[in-house]
Amino acid sequence: MTNSEQANFPKRDFTGYGRTPPHPRWPGNARIAINFAVNIEEGSEYSPLDGDPRTDTALTEGEGMDTGIVGRDLAAESMYEYGSRVGFWRLLSLFEKRGLPFTAFACAKALERTPDIAAALRDNAADVCCHGYRWEKHWLLTREEEKRQIERAVESLQQSLGQGPQGWCCRYGPSINTRELLVEAGISYDSDAYNDELPYWVDVNGRKQLIIPYSLVANDCKLVPRGLQTADDFFALLSDAFDQLYEEGETNPKMLNIGLHPRMAGHPGRARGLARFLDHVRSHDRVWVCKRNDIAQHWRQTFPTEDGKG
Ligand SMILES: [Zn+2]
Repeated sequence: MTNSEQANFPKRDFTGYGRTPPHPRWPGNARIAINFAVNIEEGSEYSPLDGDPRTDTALTEGEGMDTGIVGRDLAAESMYEYGSRVGFWRLLSLFEKRGLPFTAFACAKALERTPDIAAALRDNAADVCCHGYRWEKHWLLTREEEKRQIERAVESLQQSLGQGPQGWCCRYGPSINTRELLVEAGISYDSDAYNDELPYWVDVNGRKQLIIPYSLVANDCKLVPRGLQTADDFFALLSDAFDQLYEEGETNPKMLNIGLHPRMAGHPGRARGLARFLDHVRSHDRVWVCKRNDIAQHWRQTFPTEDGKG
């Protein structure tokens, strides 16, 4: 690449599939594919105990509060711990009782600190889309640091789960180097994109990489910062997205990403809305509730790279 090409990489694409998205031919002639991403971050967030200047408060009840705390914020630490101690197990139970799969968006460090959760993921045969070695901001890392963190994450997940991740999704967003580093690390798809409702291929230094876009909209991150949040609100957020796509899916099936965090949706008054949504989904036919790895495999088989829009 020339310097100016390098400066513009990754390229932007305002067009995508546009008016004529491909029919994804989901298995079972499904009108919609749904992937639940359970974000497992607790224990990998920024913390003075891990050398960071302050405690992360993202997606906790303390987010945005002007506490003036310097150093450890013990309340926020505790709110994170709720996620791994209580919330994860409630979410797991909702899915397992209904026989529905989900994908673990797992930070490697979080699973190092919660071996019981790692064991549960192995038992559940959940697939893993790596969410970083830590729950960290990749755009703050140098290219070398980022490369090392990606390698550490893959090794750590292999240790925790017996297999490395096929996919990757950064906290919030990638750096300009992330996609290239993931291809070099052998990660076969990434979800560092919010720009579509179907997977697509991109060219990375002459190699095709599969992109499975993610979303922060049908996502429990919408339930913060503070304010009254009811199970009905959460149910409506999810079910309206489902109903719209289900209707469109008669002719143009798409994919619905649902993002969940144990320290958010794992609280009972929110989990109730998720439970109602899972039952809403189950009351419809022609719905493919699937793992992210299943979507990747389906897309590779159905739209081999040369046919994909790059
Ligand atoms: Zn996340």
